[in-house]
Amino acid sequence: MRTLAIIGSGPAGFYTAEAALKAMGDDIRIDIIDRLPTPYGLIRAGVAPDHQSIKAVSRRYDAVAKDPRVCFVGHVTVGKDVSIAELLDLYDDVVLATGAPHDRPLGIPGEELAGVMGSSAFVGWYNGHPDHAALAPPLDAETAVIIGNGNVAIDCARILAKTVQELQDSDIVNHALDPLSRSSIRAIHIMGRRGPHQASFTLKEVGELGELERATPLVRTEDFPPADADSTLETGQRRVVEVLRRYAGQGPDKSRPVTISLDFFLRPLRILGDGRVEAIELMRTRLDDEGRAVDTGETLTLPCGLVVSAIGYRTDPIPDVPFDERLGRFANEDGLIRPGLWCVGWARRGPTGTIGTNRPDGIAMAERIAGTPERHAADQPGDSAENRARKGLDALLTARGIEPTCFSDWQRLDAAEVARARAGAPREKIVTLDEMRALVAGEAQA
Ligand code: NAP
Repeated sequence: MRTLAIIGSGPAGFYTAEAALKAMGDDIRIDIIDRLPTPYGLIRAGVAPDHQSIKAVSRRYDAVAKDPRVCFVGHVTVGKDVSIAELLDLYDDVVLATGAPHDRPLGIPGEELAGVMGSSAFVGWYNGHPDHAALAPPLDAETAVIIGNGNVAIDCARILAKTVQELQDSDIVNHALDPLSRSSIRAIHIMGRRGPHQASFTLKEVGELGELERATPLVRTEDFPPADADSTLETGQRRVVEVLRRYAGQGPDKSRPVTISLDFFLRPLRILGDGRVEAIELMRTRLDDEGRAVDTGETLTLPCGLVVSAIGYRTDPIPDVPFDERLGRFANEDGLIRPGLWCVGWARRGPTGTIGTNRPDGIAMAERIAGTPERHAADQPGDSAENRARKGLDALLTARGIEPTCFSDWQRLDAAEVARARAGAPREKIVTLDEMRALVAGEAQA
């Protein structure tokens, strides 16, 4: 009997669990531990609320969670409620699938001003993550600036630009939809420090910018290299650039009051304001021979009332786990941190790729674990290994007064969220841990 603790119930955690069940058959017991009482990580709190088809993958994870060999242990923070050393004592293997929940800092003056926030906070706010439910981003200015040229920047811009009707059937939380319905923001700028050829957008996300009810994408023709340079791009990027060139050819649409400007070759220098953001100072850049952004010396200042930095994420360090500060993830070799301790997904490779990228990552991890001898095999054969892990964790948490939640608790929360959804929406999320706890406790008594 092999016992596995997977820390984190997002895509990387669930794909690893699914693959481990396949690879190890009846001889595996898996506990999926999450610091929240709700599973699915990035699917629930990161994927845009108007991308419901991507969120539907959680049904596949449900099947894994309901497998009798799997147990969801919610509301337990590894590194605080239970240490890595304790888990390694209880389980044969511990897999960190904790993602990358923190924003990379911009590292420029003014970053601390009110109205400046990272995309993880902004996305967490409109997605109802308990950590960010109280964010209240300022929406009373005319101009918002989003820094970064990745899909997260586009997600943030699209949510700011959409009408209430366009968001009605998404699972955006009401605490975000209400203020967005009164938003004064009319000019949204997505700032890239390099050019259209170097942008990290994907086709679907760029295409959606051209299909918005009240917003038009704007791109400057002079930001593109000569058209024949596009032939050097790989197919996906070439298609993205084709769409951007089409936007550049269209110009503003007077019938649409909101603009989304894709401003290339601009690097943020500092954020200005007295207590809260009032403007951003930018340096115009150009590409050097290696394709890096270099300063031209020309600066400009753009008045704005909201700045969201969407420049990538970092993993949350855990005590006693070696961390690569430069790359913002656990120090590892192909997923191995030290004997018995592994990492997978963004915690292993950094914040790159789509949800689907985590599937092969999870499969590779499960196969590697299956091919490695059990650490506790000699002293805990058969069923007693399962007791050591699951019952051992229960005993340890009980002794500390910690009450974990299980998958049926989540199913109750899920049903409550579905029951209170506004018309057309799939759910209205519960956004505080207190309300989640009360609901679980109340239902349990009932
Ligand atoms: P990303 O794709 O890595 O993009 C980060 C952007 O930030 C890049 O344009 C980068 O520019 C820029 N940047 C980095 N440091 C900067 C700085 N100091 N100043 C200015 N700009 C800076 O990251 P992401 O958008 O956070 O997305 C993370 C991952 O999730 C990606 O793999 C993304 O595709 C994926 N995702 C997918 C979807 C979807 O499939 N629908 C949705 C959201 C996210 P340089 O290129 O110049 O470094």
